[in-house]
Amino acid sequence: MKLITYIHDGAERVGVLTADGAAVRPLPFDSMQALIEAGRGALDEAVQAANDPVPLAGVTVLAPIPRPRQDVICLGINYAAHAVEADRYDKALAKERPETIYFSKRVTEAPGPDGFIDSHPGLVQRLDYEAELAVVIGRTAKDVPAERAADYIFGYTVLNDVSARVLQTAHKQWYFGKSLDGFTPMGPCILTADEVAFPPALAISCRVNGELRQRSNTNCLITGVADIIAELSAGMTLLPGTIIATGTPSGVGMGFDPPRFLKPGDVVECEIEKIGVLRNTVK
Ligand code: MG
Repeated sequence: MKLITYIHDGAERVGVLTADGAAVRPLPFDSMQALIEAGRGALDEAVQAANDPVPLAGVTVLAPIPRPRQDVICLGINYAAHAVEADRYDKALAKERPETIYFSKRVTEAPGPDGFIDSHPGLVQRLDYEAELAVVIGRTAKDVPAERAADYIFGYTVLNDVSARVLQTAHKQWYFGKSLDGFTPMGPCILTADEVAFPPALAISCRVNGELRQRSNTNCLITGVADIIAELSAGMTLLPGTIIATGTPSGVGMGFDPPRFLKPGDVVECEIEKIGVLRNTVK
């Protein structure tokens, strides 16, 4: 099922999309976080008892988890072709990476589908996009072996790991340049994990003003979803609602020669098969 967070009659709600995707049936949870924590059984019961659908045209769809409880966990350089382009742009970005690169991204409020990417004029040069598959953890995960990792996944969404390339590299650690307000659009929904074979092999793409820039498949991850959860949970407890952004394929702006960064007015569409399109305008 596809779950969304939305505003209707001035209130923020969560709901399940109808099969045709044209309407949403409201669910009795205070937030997506509360829905995830309630567990799959409670979700299924609520869906059975859900009220009449409301046309999507009459609501404002937000990011599925608009205010994550913790920073998003991100992977850097996790598609081979992106490693090549990142290395060409800046040797310090890719360098040697015998181990998976993890970093975090602060999200005070995630823009939803049709939301805006703040270009932060005066602060940011070289604004870039990164289409990514994001994994949402469903159950407390500690010491989870790779072969059981799928049991801990609630679902998947599309995330744009918007990046300020100058800030990203100037401060050595990537945190500041990845964490500015409006830099983590997410959506349009969470697709529950039962809808996707594991590990997910889904077409992923990004278009800027309609021009295809990124095109790959999530089966090309260097460190796959199961290994990510196994590696992190060996030392970190992953709580329900944790979001893991699994890295971006090649074709980001810094990968072009000359680079092609974003500017106000640009429309960025990140798409993953079965999940949908996350469309954001740079302002
Ligand atoms: Mg990224």
